[in-house]
Amino acid sequence: QPLWSVQTLNQVWLLGLFAIASAWVQCGQLNMLLQLYRESTTDELTGMMNRRLLMKQLEKARAAMIRKQAPFAVLLLDLDRFKRINDTFGHLAGDAVLKEVAATLSEQLEPGMVLGRYGGEEFAIILPGIDEAAAASIAERMRAQLEIKKLTIRQTKRDVGRLTASFGVAERRQDDGVETLVHRTDGQLYKAKAAGRNRVER
Ligand code: GH3
Ligand code: MG
Ligand code: MG
Repeated sequence: QPLWSVQTLNQVWLLGLFAIASAWVQCGQLNMLLQLYRESTTDELTGMMNRRLLMKQLEKARAAMIRKQAPFAVLLLDLDRFKRINDTFGHLAGDAVLKEVAATLSEQLEPGMVLGRYGGEEFAIILPGIDEAAAASIAERMRAQLEIKKLTIRQTKRDVGRLTASFGVAERRQDDGVETLVHRTDGQLYKAKAAGRNRVER
């Protein structure tokens, strides 16, 4: 039988068809996996990374900064009296405001900084290579920027009025794991709230 008989051509054709079908199925599966990954690591409202991925990134940054013997700080911020926004303008307006805040914070990030939504109206920023004093200046800049930002709900054109945030900042100490570091940062945030809000504590 010659190498390129009609029969062989038929087999090659069939094989090609199978290869294409299998690649198509695999692409679909890969796509589904990617979508699952995106959904489990992204915050739906703001599109930024969620707490789960944030904690993973935090661990990665911690290890990298230990290797480089570089400082490493974390910043947590919580919007002040945010419940008032929901109560006054409705939950959807609250959502819109959260998106605006997320965008305002994103604008101020410098290369290497990682921003994520830590919880409801709480955001976290990972600051690799940055010490506590520098982190506090960054936080102060963000605090001031938020304070002067005119928040308007796009859909209804309603003015939300003043919205501020309280910030906690902490730097990694010798044996800090990420949980300890975040816990200390949260303590500073709590202090900022207790001291009257719209301020940075470190
Ligand atoms: P404080 O200054 O002490 O932080 O006061 P607060 O009102 O911000 O704090 P509290 O924890 O009492 O309320 C937080 C509010 O944030 C309550 C909750 O309904 C709202 N919130 C959390 N997540 C979302 C969200 O995704 N969308 C909207 N619209 N509101 C949210
Ligand atoms: Mg709050
Ligand atoms: Mg809160």
